Amino acid sequence: TKYVYRFGGGVSDGGRGDKNLLGGKGANLDEMASIGLPVPPGFTISTAFCAVYYDEGRAFPPSLRDEVATGIAHIEGVTGKRFGDAADPLLVSVRSGARASMPGMMDTVLNLGLNDATVAGLAQVSGDARFAWDSYRRFIQMYSDVVLELDHARFEEALEIAKEDRGYYLDTDMSAADWQGLVDEYKSIVAELWGRPFPQDVHDQLWGAIGAVFGSWQSDRAKVYRRLNDIPSEWGTAVNVQAMVFGNMGDTSATGVAFTRDPAKGDNAYYGEFLINAQGEDVVAGIRTPQYLTKAAREAANAKPASMEEAMPEVYGELAAVFDLLERHYRDMQDIEFTVQQGKLWMLQTRSGKRTAKAALKIAVDMASEGLITREEAIARIDPAALDQLLHPTLDPKAARDVLTKGLPASPGAASGRIVFTADEAERAAAGGDDVILVRVETSPEDIHGMHAARGILTARGGMTSHAAVVARGMGRPCVSGAGSLSIGKGVMRVGDREVKAGEIITIDGSTGEVMAGAVPTIQPELVGDFGTLMEWADGIRRMKVRTNAETPQDCRTAREFGAEGIGLCRTEHMFFDAARITSVRQMILANDETGRRAALEKLLPEQRSDFVEIFEVMVGLPCTIRLLDPPLHEFLPHEDAEFGEVAKATGLDVDTLKRRAAELHEFNPMLGHRGCRLGVTYPEIYEMQARAIFEAACEVAEKSGAAPVPEVMIPLVGTKRELELMKAVVDAAAEAVFADKGRRIEYLVGTMIELPRAALRAGEIAEAGAFFSFGTNDLTQTTLGVSRDDAARFLTSYVEQGIYAKDPFVSLDVDGVGELVKLAAERGRATRPEIKLGICGEHGGDPASIAFCESVGLDYVSASPYRVPIARLAAAQAAL
Ligand code: ADP
Ligand code: MG
Ligand code: MG
Repeated sequence: TKYVYRFGGGVSDGGRGDKNLLGGKGANLDEMASIGLPVPPGFTISTAFCAVYYDEGRAFPPSLRDEVATGIAHIEGVTGKRFGDAADPLLVSVRSGARASMPGMMDTVLNLGLNDATVAGLAQVSGDARFAWDSYRRFIQMYSDVVLELDHARFEEALEIAKEDRGYYLDTDMSAADWQGLVDEYKSIVAELWGRPFPQDVHDQLWGAIGAVFGSWQSDRAKVYRRLNDIPSEWGTAVNVQAMVFGNMGDTSATGVAFTRDPAKGDNAYYGEFLINAQGEDVVAGIRTPQYLTKAAREAANAKPASMEEAMPEVYGELAAVFDLLERHYRDMQDIEFTVQQGKLWMLQTRSGKRTAKAALKIAVDMASEGLITREEAIARIDPAALDQLLHPTLDPKAARDVLTKGLPASPGAASGRIVFTADEAERAAAGGDDVILVRVETSPEDIHGMHAARGILTARGGMTSHAAVVARGMGRPCVSGAGSLSIGKGVMRVGDREVKAGEIITIDGSTGEVMAGAVPTIQPELVGDFGTLMEWADGIRRMKVRTNAETPQDCRTAREFGAEGIGLCRTEHMFFDAARITSVRQMILANDETGRRAALEKLLPEQRSDFVEIFEVMVGLPCTIRLLDPPLHEFLPHEDAEFGEVAKATGLDVDTLKRRAAELHEFNPMLGHRGCRLGVTYPEIYEMQARAIFEAACEVAEKSGAAPVPEVMIPLVGTKRELELMKAVVDAAAEAVFADKGRRIEYLVGTMIELPRAALRAGEIAEAGAFFSFGTNDLTQTTLGVSRDDAARFLTSYVEQGIYAKDPFVSLDVDGVGELVKLAAERGRATRPEIKLGICGEHGGDPASIAFCESVGLDYVSASPYRVPIARLAAAQAAL
């Protein structure tokens, strides 16, 4: 097998299509080289070798050594320098790069190939001894950290002491001799901690670094990152070995990172940061505050240090041309790393840039309008789940704000919470149900679990492309970075003369960069602009309708604002829990006979009717699926003695009789007990009352507004055709009685939920009795898997971890099992009744993967909770593409 692929100097062994094999970084380096961009030559050891490396017990077969030698020869040929040559040494970087980008998760080594002999050659050739010794000490420091895994604090300490001894403040104050002195010290630290001298053989250095990069694939932080981002461990990483270019060769050299469009807001403007006379990760590490790329951005931020556009106009012009070319070539916003070596531009990386949901929408809509992509592509590019970020509240502009300080608006959205100062604390507090804001000087990859647990992130250092900013945007967490006036001590942060202690509440606004004391009230977002445009496009493409699961007028209104086209599930029992009604409900349940029940139901009728009137008014003209009473009755029963007393008073029965009756209603397994249509079969007067309330309300609304809703009365937990027939008869009789009484008829349907395997299997005959099926996939999952949703938490996580189910089957439909029942029921139902309406009303109706399944079996609609309606609209469109 061939593992090594070359690029640069007119050669490209691979290209953008080879991401799986070469990793994202390698594939794109190849691609950039092949379209003529200035890429330092190099080669990629493919991801396929990663598995071999682990299988071989972390060793390298001779064939790989030969291939790598050929790769090095390629770089030597293009650069005219030789690896290990004391006169004019070739230096390389060794970089990781997996299929999916894992920013900062794995390790990179720069300046490899320096040793006591080559450092002199580098000084000679570059004419800059200071640069050569600075590069050497950087190399020892990085190599010791990444490859030898020595304590990096020791090296940082040595540097700090060296500066202090000389009375320096900045690294740039260090002279060639100073760096040389530090190199000696570094070498003795290595000898002390590692027990051996720092490796002088450049080939040993190279193989050490290659092994470390492959090894970093199984590091703890890489594992955590993969778990959070669903990246399979089999993918492996590739290793890129590439000729070094130097951004630290004086004032005509620089290094930077850029996005071709604003990754936070989506504006079509170059966006990025750079540092003059700097190398590698200096920009993202937050060590020096980086400068803006464009003049406009610098001016907007009111910053002083010259932008790249001003400081290096010519190279900036070239870079801007590369941005445009890459964006057109990849047809997407790019995230780019570049270095300028003595006025010459080099491209080190490009990839599709991570962006906030807001930016994703704007960029997709803009690019479709610019003709760069089609509308279908625009729709396909938005992750429906990410819309969630936009549907949530922002700070009320009218609310008072006690602004403590201002940083950079690194990731939009607002969040309030108690402050914590470590990632572990954030995780602990969040697990205990607290909303927390993670406050750090700067974040590093070790902090991701805490960033994930936090509502928002605040850092004192680092720019818009710092680790905190990039990761927060990816996770959809609001983030304010680089709040420079903030000083962080033990358990306390200070701004000016104000102190905020751990546990106190602050609010951050990631859209403005403001940091405020206390919790600031929020308001609902407006769903217009790019959001509205994209939704409109999506609506033009999707086939399935989107309804909502709602039972309050407020939820119905929210859902309609979000574009719901009806109610897919209105659970009537929620209306019974209302404090004012529960007594009548209990009276009904505890009654000894039908007369007693009817008396109580008579009291509930007007209440239930007025619920429906309010809902129907919001839903005029739209279908409303209303489920008749479903839960086991004892859920409504009193628990406390005082409550029994109250019911006793209301019913005129004594407390002991009531308690006895309550005990009679006890069930061992209520989920499979006296619930659903079994209630209607035994106490038809309950369903009769509910049906009357529905039709009286529908008539009333029709009378008032001229248009009626279309009630779809749904009978729950049906397993047999006969059950549905009996209950339909009750509903039809109630309807006829109401219509006769009111002198008007309302169009309505009676149908059932399919939530028992028997119902799915017998769907053919059940469809003879009902006009619609709604797949109640919560119960259908419980009953098909034989797993109780309320008890599953204890073992489902291990099930998912061990790959028994790919995802939690209550979150994402078990397509193979439950899905097969849905498919079968849909087919059998349609065979008997071709016009039968089919929908889904479980939680799965808001899950994009489950929605794709619903499209594949041709359901007519999905139904989701109000806030998930836009997600469902987009996912339904994507499913139809
Ligand atoms: P990451 O995946 O963490 O971004 P990279 O492999 O991109 O790691 O390396 C980090 C940084 O190191 C790059 O952004 C770049 O600035 C610098 N770098 C990597 N390779 C080279 C090189 N050949 N010449 C100069 N700088 C390099
Ligand atoms: Mg890295
Ligand atoms: Mg990079």
